[in-house]
Amino acid sequence: MKKNNKNKIGITNFKTGIALLFIIILFIIFLGISLLYTRFIKQLTYKNIYNNITELSEQTATQLSVNITNQKKFLDIMVESIDRGYFETIEDIFLRYTPDLNSYHFTRLVVLDRFGNGITSDGYKVKNYENIEEFFKQDTVYLSENRPSTVSNNQVNIYSKTFDFNGQKMVLFATINTEDYKDILSRRLFNGEGGTYLINNNGDVLIDSFGKITENNINLYDYLKKENNITNKKDLNKINNIRDDIKDNKVGTLDITFGSDVYFIHYEKLSVNNWYVVTVAPDSTIAKELTYFLSISLGLCFFINFIIIGAFIYIFVITERKNRKIYETAYIDPVTNLGNEIYFKEKAGEFLQETRKNKYVAIIDINKFKALNKLYEYEFSNKILKSLGEKLTEILPENNITCRLSRDIFAVAFTYNGHIEKLIERIFNGATVFDIEGVSITLNLSIGVYKIGNDFDINKVLDKAYMAHSKVKGLYSDNYYIFDDVLEKKYFNEQQIESNMKLALKNNEFKVVYQPKISTKDESLAGAEALVRWYKDEKIIPPNEFIPLFEKNKFIIKLDLYVFEQVCKDISSWKEKYEEVPIISVNLSKGHFADNHFIDEYVKITDKYGIDRSKIDLEITESAIIDEGIDILRILNYIKKKGFIISIDDFGTGYSSLNMIQDIKADIMKIDKSFLDKADLNSNKNIINYIVFIAKNLDMKIIVEGVETKNQVDFIKDLKCDMIQGYYYSKPISKEEFEEYFNKDN
Ligand code: C2E
Ligand code: CA
Ligand code: CA
Repeated sequence: MKKNNKNKIGITNFKTGIALLFIIILFIIFLGISLLYTRFIKQLTYKNIYNNITELSEQTATQLSVNITNQKKFLDIMVESIDRGYFETIEDIFLRYTPDLNSYHFTRLVVLDRFGNGITSDGYKVKNYENIEEFFKQDTVYLSENRPSTVSNNQVNIYSKTFDFNGQKMVLFATINTEDYKDILSRRLFNGEGGTYLINNNGDVLIDSFGKITENNINLYDYLKKENNITNKKDLNKINNIRDDIKDNKVGTLDITFGSDVYFIHYEKLSVNNWYVVTVAPDSTIAKELTYFLSISLGLCFFINFIIIGAFIYIFVITERKNRKIYETAYIDPVTNLGNEIYFKEKAGEFLQETRKNKYVAIIDINKFKALNKLYEYEFSNKILKSLGEKLTEILPENNITCRLSRDIFAVAFTYNGHIEKLIERIFNGATVFDIEGVSITLNLSIGVYKIGNDFDINKVLDKAYMAHSKVKGLYSDNYYIFDDVLEKKYFNEQQIESNMKLALKNNEFKVVYQPKISTKDESLAGAEALVRWYKDEKIIPPNEFIPLFEKNKFIIKLDLYVFEQVCKDISSWKEKYEEVPIISVNLSKGHFADNHFIDEYVKITDKYGIDRSKIDLEITESAIIDEGIDILRILNYIKKKGFIISIDDFGTGYSSLNMIQDIKADIMKIDKSFLDKADLNSNKNIINYIVFIAKNLDMKIIVEGVETKNQVDFIKDLKCDMIQGYYYSKPISKEEFEEYFNKDN
């Protein structure tokens, strides 16, 4: 099988490959969709966060800008009123504006001269104020970066503007606690977690709403790198980008990874002073929710993906297994692992189409395998069959098709260019002796060979091989037969018969003859066997020429019923004319047994003609009774139940066990004529004696058929058989001739 099976299995592998590819593609598509989906959601959420942080940052920057602008405006107003000469002394100025300071968040006013000397609105004196030039340089209102207060420990920022007072250049300060900006910067915390840095465009931190940076001149970029241990290039670059953007007066948003957390950053320029608001929101709740949501949905995606793919694989495996099973039960013989009959017909059918020369088909059969089967266990016999199958595959030429068609019948097809007799010799030499589990087994094979000609129908080719095989089957030694002209003629005849049989039945070409059965006691008529004859074109075709064929093509079922009906008709006509009608035997082919209730047809016919079924004897051959696979006991019981008599025909040619004979409870045992054929009758005497003994024990009657001589008659009478059938008394005769016996008797 292995060798010849390649094709089918190849196809299955191909299918498996396609299915696997399909599953993999499906998996990749699912994976792709899942990833795209999560990416999409992530992008959507990030965009949302970007928008949020940008908005917050912008609001903070605007608020701060408005605040500073207002504060600057206050200075402008003050200096304008001084310029207009409303005030005579510095104290006047302080007096006028001190009440307003609070609402602008200023802590105090200071007026200084070019040397940095002056007074504060809350009564302090200032001497040599540091870097006083910085303030005198400015034309418009100036806002300083953080510096320490001269009167307290606070950081302060100074709004300043110069003015002329009594012919002297002076500068007016309004001081604000740096902390004051923090209020605005911290006002809009990002879910309570974010914060804002106020920086100049060098990146120096002026205010840190997180409250972590308190010293002056801390660079935000360096701080972020150091504080968050940023070492990877990508994130370092991002920080550098912020730096460059701010240098170029640009705004921007980005996300950056600090440790295990993602931070969102937006930097927004103030409309005053070139300062920047940098808003930082750590891995906000939104992002956390997102990660959670994403992992859930991703997990769900994978789960669904796996379920679907799992289901696919499951369905695939199941159908694949089913297909395999169907294939195996349909094509493979479980005993030998070879192909079965269906497989052979399919493969050998393809083989016929090949235009090669020297193609052969052969039937190889083990002689008397039934006997072997009885001798050994069932499993052991199976091993014999398996070994033979393997050996045949091995011996036959490459690419052979070797199959087991039925119990012990193998069919092979192959191409062989040498002498076919040599190959057969090789089989007889190589495939007849086996060592199975230490037991040496010798087989006799019968081989029927057909050399394929112009054949395209595998059934016909097989028929021819079978025909050749039937010439040698059942012999006790290795034999073969090669289909030849004689068989060709016979085959042709059979074809003719097959094409004529239906019409012949219709045209009443089949006639029934009767062969009397004679009682050994007083040589009176004990019954008769109905036998069919085919009258075709004035000639009689003997049953041996068509019965086997009809058994093969199942036409025997119709013919048997036809014969049976003729017999019933005859009996019913005899019943009208004669007081007593003898028991008539009718042959029953085993072809009927496929149908458990075939006997109902027979019953119907007897009822139709009003025939007593206990006057009809159905002859069933011993070989039909021992055929395996048929529930013969049930069938026979059913026949008995309907009232028929049962005979075991051709007894002694099969291998029925005595147990079986006991079980079937037949009425008559019909000993085959082959027991009489033998020259030395006496050597069979013991066997027949034994059979008679058993039969008598089972209450069965005995008839011996094929009795031709006086010698045989005496021999049988001696054995206490009940009846004799044979040419010695009468050949099968017509209905009319048979009726003479009635007259004789009555
Ligand atoms: P069978 O059932 O064993 O029938 C006995 C055969 O032995 C008959 O051959 C009969 O003519 C032949 N015979 C009888 N006495 C002698 C004798 O002294 N010497 C020799 N040499 N032969 C004798 P027939 O009529 O040619 O039938 C052959 C077989 O065909 C039958 O063997 C039976 O198996 C089958 N057959 C005949 N008619 C029918 C039928 O209607 N249905 C079925 N199913 N089979 C039938
Ligand atoms: Ca018979
Ligand atoms: Ca017989």
